[in-house]
Amino acid sequence: MTLRYDLHCHSTASDGALSPRDLVSRAFEQGVNVLALTDHDTVDGLGEARLQAQQLGIRLINGIELSCTHLNQCLHIVGLNIDPDHPGLREGLSKQQALRDERAKRIADKLAKKGIPGVYEAVLVNAGKGEITRTHFAEYLLRQAYVNSMQEAFDRYLNKGQPAYVSTTWASLEEVVSWIVNAGGIAVLAHPLRYKLSNKWINRALAVFKEAGGQGIEVVNGRGSLEEVRLAQQFAERHQLVASTGSDFHAPDSPYLELGRLVELPATLIPVWSLFPN
Ligand code: AMP
Ligand code: MN
Ligand code: MN
Ligand code: MN
Repeated sequence: MTLRYDLHCHSTASDGALSPRDLVSRAFEQGVNVLALTDHDTVDGLGEARLQAQQLGIRLINGIELSCTHLNQCLHIVGLNIDPDHPGLREGLSKQQALRDERAKRIADKLAKKGIPGVYEAVLVNAGKGEITRTHFAEYLLRQAYVNSMQEAFDRYLNKGQPAYVSTTWASLEEVVSWIVNAGGIAVLAHPLRYKLSNKWINRALAVFKEAGGQGIEVVNGRGSLEEVRLAQQFAERHQLVASTGSDFHAPDSPYLELGRLVELPATLIPVWSLFPN
């Protein structure tokens, strides 16, 4: 039997709509056999997800999606098969989480100057115990009808160049890769085509990533086109990286794909799961 993998998705521990438990149930219903929960800069959802995965008999890979800053660009690095309790990783995460909180207050201040007050308090309630992300701001702006869609919230307020954008210096690419590797995990560059960077830029970043101990690249990402799969495949081949696949699922009824609904990885690539322990 060929297994169905989905190695990138989000729960309420960051900006996903479903609790870790409900997310695992949904993955199971969608026929996923191996699921990695990869919340933004937190491992807090993994315990609950593991319990449910054991209940249902699906394999849960401990994952994370870390934000990093490389040459003034924000990149996302997925860590797979990490030890979520590793002290070095934990220390790194508390720094990232402090940056997220600080940034959230500054985004709210900027929105207040645009006549939209009280947003920090609102997103804090909405994020609950989870990490605050720009998704929470976008959801608030949509709920309060300041915008008509999530996309508009990003385009008019939250994206780089817009009035509520706050530039953040996350940990470096080398640092986040080292946290993952030291925690026993595999570091994967997430959605390489979504940054709208030149091939030359990505190639240089991948050289640094590999040098730091990075091993994989996300070749199939839920929102990507087949053309993007082809381009990502070229990066994988050129840098001899293993290939990962994930929906980047955040919520039912969203622009993101459904869990497990992924095209196959190009057969010539080595899948990242060849590095998972049996
Ligand atoms: P953050 O890591 O806090 O900067 O938030 C980034 C998150 O915002 C991403 O992981 C996406 O889930 C979400 N996001 C970014 N751009 C868009 C968009 N145009 N529409 C919907 N969600 C988006
Ligand atoms: Mn997200
Ligand atoms: Mn991402
Ligand atoms: Mn993601």
